[in-house]
Amino acid sequence: MKKKFVSMVMAVVLCGVFTAGCGGAEGETSGEASPAGEAAGSAAESEAADASESVQTEASDTEAAAGGDYEGALSGVTLKVGTDTSFVPFCFPDDNNVYTGFDIELLEAVSDYLGFEYELSPMDFTALLMSVQTNKLDMGLAGITITDERKEVMDFADPYYDAGLQILVKSDNEDIKQIADLEGKKVALKEGTASVDYVNENVSDCTVTTFPNIEAAYMEVQRGAADAVVYDAPNMLYYTNQNPDSGCKVVGDLVDGCQYGIVLQKDSEYTEYINAALAKFHEDGTYDAIYEKWFGQQ
Ligand code: GLN
Repeated sequence: MKKKFVSMVMAVVLCGVFTAGCGGAEGETSGEASPAGEAAGSAAESEAADASESVQTEASDTEAAAGGDYEGALSGVTLKVGTDTSFVPFCFPDDNNVYTGFDIELLEAVSDYLGFEYELSPMDFTALLMSVQTNKLDMGLAGITITDERKEVMDFADPYYDAGLQILVKSDNEDIKQIADLEGKKVALKEGTASVDYVNENVSDCTVTTFPNIEAAYMEVQRGAADAVVYDAPNMLYYTNQNPDSGCKVVGDLVDGCQYGIVLQKDSEYTEYINAALAKFHEDGTYDAIYEKWFGQQ
């Protein structure tokens, strides 16, 4: 078994790969999400929707027990919330460098309903998970996959989105159509994400390079330095649809089906409030409205 892991640190990664750009947004604090739904192209929306259906979670026990009346329950509270620097279409800076996306609009709705204020800090994905784990942030959301390993060190609110992994290759690549085809190939991955574990466990012989941001991994494929990226399907489908000149395509079946959840500190007092808000949003259509804006009809 031969597997090489190369860790690359790239400080500012490939601004302009995404239409939204990424200039200067890191570390910015903002409580605003702009109405940037226009960024979502209809083709991208419907394809991403095919790959990832929304999760209709049951109302949590807590919420049922309390009669669901959590409206305004956290007014006067300010929470430190972290997000990824860029994970389209869930959280990314718009043209004005204001964070937007499905997760950001969900956060806005949760904050409106529960009545809390928040400070939003975009950061690399590994830093995001670590900051919640070490109690530097109250909460994080960035299409974060719920895993047993992560559950040991942080809380997850109820799942809010179904996803899975797919493969991105150059448009003219005919060799790679499924995970088994990655044997002996060069694979670019995003550091600290579930796709690293997946490739580690399911491909015995490939050369893996990891990057803090997925844009850098896509660029590796574009410039021929890597054969493939394995990553979250909704992100790759949105990216290729929004960037028809990327020279890349998404291939293969959806693997490693997963769900996204909002992370909180271990045993956080806020988890029940977030669950109550999510349950309410599934009932009153708030969830569907945000979903349709970013992914089209369910
Ligand atoms: N869903 C993936 C994970 O949690 C990637 C999330 C991200 O890159 N923001 O590992």
